[in-house]
Amino acid sequence: MKNEAKDIVIELNKTYLTLDKIFYTVQSPQKVKEPSIYCYNKELAKKLNINLSEKEIIDYFSGNKIIPNTTPFAQAYAGHQFGHFTVLGDGRAIVLGEIRYKKKLYDIQLKGSGRTPYSRGGDGRATLPTMLREYLISEAMHHLKIPTTRSLCVIQTEENVHREKVEKGAVLTRMAQSHIRIGTFEYAALMGVKELKQLLNYTIERHYPELKNTDNLAQKLLKKVMDKQIQLIVDWIRVGFIHGVMNTDNTSISGETIDYGPCAFMNSYDEKTVYSSIDTHGRYSFGNQATILKWNIVRLAEALLPLISENENNAIEVAEEVLKVFDEMYQSSFNKMMSKKLGLLSKKEKDTILINELLTLMTKYRRDYTNTFFMLSNNENPFTEEEEIKWFNRWKKRTENQDLDKTLKTMQKNNPTIIPRNHFVEKAIRDEKKFDRFLDALKNPYGYKKVKKEFQSPPESEAGYKTYCGT
Ligand code: AMP
Ligand code: MG
Repeated sequence: MKNEAKDIVIELNKTYLTLDKIFYTVQSPQKVKEPSIYCYNKELAKKLNINLSEKEIIDYFSGNKIIPNTTPFAQAYAGHQFGHFTVLGDGRAIVLGEIRYKKKLYDIQLKGSGRTPYSRGGDGRATLPTMLREYLISEAMHHLKIPTTRSLCVIQTEENVHREKVEKGAVLTRMAQSHIRIGTFEYAALMGVKELKQLLNYTIERHYPELKNTDNLAQKLLKKVMDKQIQLIVDWIRVGFIHGVMNTDNTSISGETIDYGPCAFMNSYDEKTVYSSIDTHGRYSFGNQATILKWNIVRLAEALLPLISENENNAIEVAEEVLKVFDEMYQSSFNKMMSKKLGLLSKKEKDTILINELLTLMTKYRRDYTNTFFMLSNNENPFTEEEEIKWFNRWKKRTENQDLDKTLKTMQKNNPTIIPRNHFVEKAIRDEKKFDRFLDALKNPYGYKKVKKEFQSPPESEAGYKTYCGT
């Protein structure tokens, strides 16, 4: 006799499919040749209550079989890419459905799963090294306690994927609070007010249900996304993360880091740092991320205008009222974050000067961002130059009346001992043993008692190091 409960391999919801059909296309993943598991996130699977056999993992997360009772689909969206508006959509991703975890729904999505109606000229595929890169860095971000999409699995395939050279193919299973982006609202705005309103209501229900049954929802959503995204970028700055492609289609409404394409972690401190091969003008440089976020939030505001007020002038006024506190909010969050990195337990007027002077000196002497703060958090002096030592003495004096233990604990919670440095990432994604070791080390970035020294060293040189989009 057939056991019905056994037929449910993973219980996935399909709430997104209640939206108008313009928001998605029902689409199955394309089959792949000879899939095998490269890595599987057992910890995450356990949390999500996913209990699959090896064969099921391969079948379902390669896209070769469809999970029973699901309706896979590709999402439609738009976005400003490097400042230019384009209509897009999942060109190489398929949402399998939404899994429930702690009362919230999370998308389970395959990436690299073949062409969709939104693929444009692309092949719909992804290479093994780039999907491993996403797995490694997104998991590192999670353990750094930064909101992020997560990676459940990388399936390796025997498909040949043609990039600069021929690479093995891969399908990544990613989990996200949702894949609704600023670009989804830009797309809805293009479609019409009815569609925009539908997306707004869906988003509120899914992400911000506490706002339900209140008025001025569009204005409130704008404010929520602005708050969440400011916190996110401040967190990126805390650990030296450069997203690299902060287009509005890569800015999530939930406030999670999404799209690990050309991202990278900075070694020596310099606001101008850029790794992305196509970011020739530094639009998405380390120090420009807050400015770009604000630009992106203005795009969200523009999309929401028809829902803020029927009268356009009124709507603009209301949106401006929300946006006008952006700079102040960012600066205040940034200062709070930096104060924690420096163990400044109370707020003092001259703290911003102390912070800015340190950043100027670190730029001048090309100090490693992570290791400098790591040493300070270990009560060590990382400096050698006279003006640096002067700064160090001033900082010591500023913190001398504080409880040392408390000061160091605050610093150690905010300054990682290791980050996924580019030169280790590059080696790890080409060697299975190194991958496992590195991933393991990245799971405990704030463990000052068990520091993984082998992954702390900066590269000998970064000259010519570049990262790539959508590879
Ligand atoms: P990204 O730079 O990863 O945010 O991608 C921008 C857009 O290009 C998204 O709509 C992707 O789905 C699409 N895209 C990226 N790579 C491919 C590919 N190999 N095939 C089809 N579409 C792609
Ligand atoms: Mg993207």
